[in-house]
Amino acid sequence: MSIATLDHDVQPVAPAVPPLTAFDRCDASAVVGGPNGTSARGACNAQAYVRAVLPSGQDLVFCAHHGRKHEAALAAAGATIRDETDTIDA
Ligand SMILES: [Zn+2]
Repeated sequence: MSIATLDHDVQPVAPAVPPLTAFDRCDASAVVGGPNGTSARGACNAQAYVRAVLPSGQDLVFCAHHGRKHEAALAAAGATIRDETDTIDA
């Protein structure tokens, strides 16, 4: 029987998640409004270390802070998440 091997080889096809670069900037403002009803569009703009690709193909990047904040919700939405926060201290 080769079922075990077959199961191992056939994995869900995850969308490609490109590596992050120093030019990727946090998109948190595209997802959440600021506190007190303020519009926070473009407010964060920190260097991004977390990239999430949604099943729709939408590609979002977040700084470490916002990546952690939104990671659970993104995962629940079926996003494929690439977390490079461990490179911050490199
Ligand atoms: Zn941010």
